[in-house]
Amino acid sequence: MATSTDLPVPDDTLMVAAMAMNRVVVRYHEVALKGGNRTTLVAGLTRNIMRALEGTGVDHAHRAPGRIILHLPSPEVWPQVRERLKHVFGIANFLLCERSRGPLEQVTERITERVGNLDFDSFAVRTKRCDKTFPVPSPEVSATIGASVQARTGRPVSLTAPQLEIHVEILPKELLYSLEKVPGAGGMPTASGGTVLVLLSGGIDSPVAAHRMMRRGCSCEFVHFHGAPFQGRASAEKAEELTRILSLWQPDSRLHLVSFGEIQRAIVARAPKRARVVLYRRMMARIAEQLAARTGAGALCTGDSLGQVASQTLPNLATVDESIDLPILRPLIAMDKEEITAQARAIGTYETSILPEEDCCSLFVPKHPSTSMTIGAARAAEADLDIAGLVERSRDHIEVLDAVPPAITTLEAAPG
Ligand code: ATP
Ligand code: MG
Repeated sequence: MATSTDLPVPDDTLMVAAMAMNRVVVRYHEVALKGGNRTTLVAGLTRNIMRALEGTGVDHAHRAPGRIILHLPSPEVWPQVRERLKHVFGIANFLLCERSRGPLEQVTERITERVGNLDFDSFAVRTKRCDKTFPVPSPEVSATIGASVQARTGRPVSLTAPQLEIHVEILPKELLYSLEKVPGAGGMPTASGGTVLVLLSGGIDSPVAAHRMMRRGCSCEFVHFHGAPFQGRASAEKAEELTRILSLWQPDSRLHLVSFGEIQRAIVARAPKRARVVLYRRMMARIAEQLAARTGAGALCTGDSLGQVASQTLPNLATVDESIDLPILRPLIAMDKEEITAQARAIGTYETSILPEEDCCSLFVPKHPSTSMTIGAARAAEADLDIAGLVERSRDHIEVLDAVPPAITTLEAAPG
């Protein structure tokens, strides 16, 4: 079945490219479906990739249909590149490749030689023909390579559950093959979806909510409210560490730490006991809204999940929403605790989230907070509070921290 199929070769000296696994084919998925915005999104994704790879020596990339091709300075940088690419949103998957400009026979021979030394029970060849001018259809390319590998190794083809997958990418002017395909983080490129301000407690939920928004292409700023001067820094330190872990997925992460204790004291002094938690939330939302105006965030984001605790009932959430104009996004609203916990483990925030701390919301909170507080009741409960004054004064009690992401050694251990 082998056909002589020379790819168009502009320069004979390039016929045999360096025989090394020194290309990475990055495939994107959702970005490719975006019609008019695709060019901008691909440019953004390429920028994010190059930024994530700073210091690895990868300084060149070119584009092919539905793909970005990275040039590795040497195969040795691959482990580092792989770990970093796993944290770049917008990538569906990526492959470590060897490249050839030669004919199909040459590539078939090369693949056969490479896999001849490997130990595997079954295999499959998966070919993608992005260059439709290439004269041989994908199934035929797969069959040609498969027949050669089978003849050499005696191993059977299994299209459903192969132990070894051989990927062949037919791109304009180049043909690449890979024995290693890595799943990407998916989603949309960071910074393509605007900025949200995440209310980050020290708990399990809000870091997961942040990660979900990042995956949709949002840049996240963070704000944490702590109980100073009535509580210590434990919750703030957890928020710092969580911000640091989350900064694996976005290059610049900034955390705003707000002392909230005095505001809580004012609420405790002037409002009914059962209203406290919802009033805390309304004040947090107002302060966060002001902060969002300064940081350019278009929405707030919380880790609320419907019915999880007393403050997260529909009436209470609506009453919190009413305190500000900005939308409050709640990406976890329909997830249960088990699903959220599994996500927290997968992104590496769980262990930090479960460290003991005193959340400021537990300060002066009654045993039975209201689960159904109307907007009217909240307004009445706030009647004696100088809301504008409290929000204004909170500005003098904000610390701003820029997170330094974990080093590459930690990246190696981080879940993808
Ligand atoms: P989490 O696990 O995220 O702490 P939770 O189940 O403990 O959530 P609550 O304490 O009711 O739920 O908080 C609901 C949401 O309100 C949090 O997910 C977070 O977005 C926000 N929030 C609560 N406390 C704080 C805080 N101290 N600082 C910043 N945001 C907070
Ligand atoms: Mg909490």
